[in-house]
Amino acid sequence: MPGIYLHIPFCRQACHYCNFHFSTSLKYKEEMVEAMLMELELRKDYLVDRELDSIYFGGGTPSLLTEGELMRFFEKIGKYFTIRPDAEITLEANPDDLTREKIAALRRTPVNRLSIGVQSFFEEDLRFFNRAHNAREARACLEQALVAGFDNLTIDLIYGSPTTSHAHWEENLKTTFQYGIPHVSCYALTVEERTALAHFIKAGKVKPVDEEHAARQFEMLVTAMQAEGYVQYEISNFARPGHFAVHNSSYWKGEPYLGIGPSAHSYNGESRQWNVANNAKYLRALKDVKDAENLASTLFGIEYLTPADRYNEYVMTGLRTIWGVSLERLREMGPGYEAHFLQHIQPFLANGQAKQEGETIRLTDAGRFLADGIAASVFADNA
Ligand code: SF4
Repeated sequence: MPGIYLHIPFCRQACHYCNFHFSTSLKYKEEMVEAMLMELELRKDYLVDRELDSIYFGGGTPSLLTEGELMRFFEKIGKYFTIRPDAEITLEANPDDLTREKIAALRRTPVNRLSIGVQSFFEEDLRFFNRAHNAREARACLEQALVAGFDNLTIDLIYGSPTTSHAHWEENLKTTFQYGIPHVSCYALTVEERTALAHFIKAGKVKPVDEEHAARQFEMLVTAMQAEGYVQYEISNFARPGHFAVHNSSYWKGEPYLGIGPSAHSYNGESRQWNVANNAKYLRALKDVKDAENLASTLFGIEYLTPADRYNEYVMTGLRTIWGVSLERLREMGPGYEAHFLQHIQPFLANGQAKQEGETIRLTDAGRFLADGIAASVFADNA
């Protein structure tokens, strides 16, 4: 079932590790909302099936939207699409925005799941990451969200930072369990090009990220999550049964989605589109636009997927998730894909990093941390 992603491209301050698209100037927030509403209207025919299973406000920082702005999105979506009664409606939120009043306002909207960017419960980490919130706010927002009735919560945590000792990482996980958070996304601190973190490391101002330190914390993570009954359904995502993320799972299962806003991506089964990752250009493209065709030339790039692209995407996500790679699905993709996959996955089956159960091949605990490298080994070239 399809979903809609809305990218809110504003943040209060730039986290040192982040390479997402956002602006720290909120000056054009209202104009941006108008432009995104316009894009929604113009692209209402993108999804063939208009019954939505999920809506996801990501960013950037969607918790900067007011209740009124959020409701305008819901009105517009409701006009052109059917939101299923049990649809998952997620809003990414930063702890510094989640005051008691804000949480109460969010409860009045159709949002039924909060994805909170906690990252760590320790001050030292939060300062190193240049997060806008502190450790007290990280805890307070969870307490208040739970009291207000937001029990469908997910939080993001970062491991592998030079500031995060193994003891602190263990403590971060324990705190997560104490709050009973049903879904957790955990990411290794990654040094992306053109970020403040990359610059500081190059200048010798901070220690580089140590891969062994991160690998050890990943092992601690997997062990702790298993002991607490969470399922690692994707390499970075852990959920209690019944709490797998609908929206993200649909990406991994190849379902269509419409992405609205600067830098948002869309997928309809045949092609991928990506909106311009620049707020000013995005606003200009939407300003005088009359119809969807006119929009295509200024707003987004497009790539039609070849059979090899489809195969590569499928094995990449399959190996990262609990669903694995189905040999039957490979056979449906065309001649040669199953044989190619079986030939190249063989060394990983032999060394215990992958295992076969019937028609499905999955990575084992030993292989999961190496998922991207293993996927690269089984990729096919475009002929
Ligand atoms: S709040 Fe999120 S999107 Fe914004 S800079 Fe920080 S990590 Fe990036």
